[in-house]
Amino acid sequence: MDRYCLGQVKKLRLEDWPTDDKSLCPDGKEASLELLAKIKAELYDLQVRLHAEKKHRLLVILQGMDTAGKDGTIRHVFGGLDPQGVHVATFGKPTALELSHDYLWRIHQEVPARGEIAIFNRSHYEDVLAVRVRHLKPPQVWKKRFDHINDFERMLTDEGVSIVKIFLHISLDEQRERLLKRKNDPRKQWKLMPEDVKDRDLWPHYVEAYEEAIARTSTAHAPWHIIPANRKWYRNVAVADLIRDTLAKLKPTFPKPDFDVAAIDI
Ligand code: AMP
Ligand code: MG
Repeated sequence: MDRYCLGQVKKLRLEDWPTDDKSLCPDGKEASLELLAKIKAELYDLQVRLHAEKKHRLLVILQGMDTAGKDGTIRHVFGGLDPQGVHVATFGKPTALELSHDYLWRIHQEVPARGEIAIFNRSHYEDVLAVRVRHLKPPQVWKKRFDHINDFERMLTDEGVSIVKIFLHISLDEQRERLLKRKNDPRKQWKLMPEDVKDRDLWPHYVEAYEEAIARTSTAHAPWHIIPANRKWYRNVAVADLIRDTLAKLKPTFPKPDFDVAAIDI
């Protein structure tokens, strides 16, 4: 599925990209659940092979505004995989230890090993997003990071990591709905951070930061995908489809035993 792949561009305007497309699944939510189940079965089969083969490494990077659906995507798309071959790394505010290192230090440790899928819930991109918008570091510091990030990701892909970068694209109105739900649902209130509401006022600044970060780091080896995420069911199908296609291209296969299986007496 290449329809949401950005490719290499000079400039990005997020408002030119849909937040509520349905083209992969025009028949709506009911039909999407069946399609998602089918894709997830394929994903499971591919992942079992990937894990057995111990050859390929898949890194999925999830970014998006608050409430864009990073947690939900992880649950709904990756929930059915074999936990032995998957790990989720969530990057919140850096700890004192993390801050005493370079910003890629905590990231590099979570990069998948052979046979593994790693899912990043936020990532090193926060170091050119939150850091920029909240003025945690001066521009001369974060501006250099686009090049570091491209070099870092190039090194990883040269070393055999496949990188899928996903921006979950929601509208400002949809975010308002979701924040209201968080506020009114006791099961979701824990997720409502006062900072998120402050960040909401900074929305145009985040848009600007995302547009520059995505445009500058959408490379041939690690392009960005801008997934319409206003509808959760659609987002799930679109992400699952993208991951399935990425894994299928790797053609993971069960390793052939290097001994004579027939000769083994059981
Ligand atoms: P959540 O994803 O809701 O748990 O929130 C995590 C918070 O950590 C968000 O507000 C992020 O912007 C913030 N965060 C993640 N990485 C960094 C970073 N490198 N520097 C500053 N803030 C960060
Ligand atoms: Mg949050």
